[in-house]
Amino acid sequence: MSDCLFCKIVAGEIPAELLYEDDHVVAFKDINPQAPMHHLIIPKKHISTINDLTINDEALIGKMYLAAKALAEKEGVEDDGYRTVMNCGESGGQTVFHIHLHVLAGRNMQWPPG
Ligand code: AMP
Ligand code: ZN
Repeated sequence: MSDCLFCKIVAGEIPAELLYEDDHVVAFKDINPQAPMHHLIIPKKHISTINDLTINDEALIGKMYLAAKALAEKEGVEDDGYRTVMNCGESGGQTVFHIHLHVLAGRNMQWPPG
């Protein structure tokens, strides 16, 4: 998608603080962190929302969660705990329409979320 912000990060056209990359996913620091650790994990392939997932993306979603686990271990927050969030659609709080898994840690998370 030529006008997608996160596709541009994948392509290296917009800078980001990259943390992890493999053939399928990229992780980078959120530009407006909501916790001491706030990372985003995205698929390299453009998928607009959770509603656009198909059975072919089953493994890809698993890879995103395994990347979240690896990042938590790398940051040493796996025992203390962390929050993973994937917003869907406007009312779900999604502002960038290329799916992304938020990984937040370093403070006590509240429930229910706002
Ligand atoms: P969401 O509201 O769930 O769609 O989350 C979008 C996230 O992308 C927000 O937390 C933003 O701070 C983050 N974001 C927007 N632009 C950038 C960027 N250029 N680099 C890193 N994170 C970004
Ligand atoms: Zn995209």
